[in-house]
Amino acid sequence: MTKEQRDALLYQPKNGYDRLTQAEEQELNAYCEAYKSFLDRSKTERECVFTAIREAEARGFVAYRPGMPVKAGDKLYWNNRGKAIMLAVIGEEDLSHGANIGAAHTDAPRLDIKPNPLYEDAELAYLKTHHYGGIRKYQWVTVPLELHGKIVRRDGSEVYVTIGNDPSDPQLVITDLLPHLGREQGKKPLNEAIPSESLNILMGSRPESDDDGKDRVKLSVLRLLNEKYGIVEEDFISAELEAVPAANARDIGLDRSMIGAYGHDDRVCAYAELAAIFDAKSPRKTAVCIFADKEEIGSEGVSGMQGEAFEYFMECLCKAQGTDLRTCLANSFCLSADVCAAFDPGFPEVFERKNAAYLNYGVGLCKYTGAGGKSGASDASSEVVGRIRKLLNDHDIAWQMCELGKTDAGGGGTVAKYMAKRNIDTLDAGVPVLSMHAPFEVVSKYDCYMTYRAVKAIFEKN
Ligand code: MN
Ligand code: MN
Repeated sequence: MTKEQRDALLYQPKNGYDRLTQAEEQELNAYCEAYKSFLDRSKTERECVFTAIREAEARGFVAYRPGMPVKAGDKLYWNNRGKAIMLAVIGEEDLSHGANIGAAHTDAPRLDIKPNPLYEDAELAYLKTHHYGGIRKYQWVTVPLELHGKIVRRDGSEVYVTIGNDPSDPQLVITDLLPHLGREQGKKPLNEAIPSESLNILMGSRPESDDDGKDRVKLSVLRLLNEKYGIVEEDFISAELEAVPAANARDIGLDRSMIGAYGHDDRVCAYAELAAIFDAKSPRKTAVCIFADKEEIGSEGVSGMQGEAFEYFMECLCKAQGTDLRTCLANSFCLSADVCAAFDPGFPEVFERKNAAYLNYGVGLCKYTGAGGKSGASDASSEVVGRIRKLLNDHDIAWQMCELGKTDAGGGGTVAKYMAKRNIDTLDAGVPVLSMHAPFEVVSKYDCYMTYRAVKAIFEKN
């Protein structure tokens, strides 16, 4: 057989660096610098919303209010309780033709602070935590932490807390056992060696001097919090404080081809959507970018994708155009933009090589997610996959088809099934990640850039 005949018959994905042009490389580098800066300013879901609003307003987006008239080219956003956000650019065609939706999530695994968290033991003060999302607990000890979040005080006033982000701030940490005394702990299975109730954050060690009661270290921590934030112990009851890893985003590898950071899952896709909706040129259909909350715990609650905020926003837009929501959803497409697992040669036993995602092979499309026999999966039809595959090929965008891992190894899901349930054709796609859900995750710059290009092509041309 000739080489041409072979190449025509075989499916042979290529490393992205073997097809990258110089012009693309420049755009790739600029894009990734902007992404790193976004990450450093957005370490919680609330901060992702702040950053999105700041950047959207700078580009002419306005806060949408129900009843506002809507016309082609309008740029709108809807802030859902400060924890989730939807942005829309109104298309040339009205919403009865459907919208192109990108749905990513901006919550990430972390340690939430318990409602009554502060205690003292052996003259050290600690905050109790309740982990959020799927974490491997042993990864979160002896890692510098920051504290971010909001406290509503007894009088109803609100204060935003960030400790550890500014270079002049102190940082926090959870301690672990020294190896010299870790003989018994070391025999335990990985998932049991660090129990949840031991994830307590060290807050201070210096006793309050001007006091002769008990718990003087705790008291001193409370005094410092009171001086800085005006809070008392009871105010923790109405607080949402999140402990997150303290490191900022950094280039990884001598070739600087990767980015290491906390929260790539799923801010790497959220940022791709945001940049794409900013850059999309006069979309034919309305483009909608969603930053969802609570995906890591099942998309529950008022800010999660199972909530009704999405319908409310879309219904308002439909009404303003004299069309109905159900027709709009039936004609819409959703890219469930979420990360996938990158093949890790350190753990080949859990991956299936022919259907794994590889670093530098472009945006990973997942026809279906789920576990075992596709339990809990949203399974995109061949028509939907075919349409998106053609669109990406037509625009020279590198993509790869992937599954999470070996069928019997485990599984996972995204917001895809909640979008599909709304009668929206939905496909999962996103950036392959190494060490997903760890305090410091790794992605390839090439894949970040191709995911942005994919979302932009969908907003402009689908
Ligand atoms: Mn995710
Ligand atoms: Mn996740």
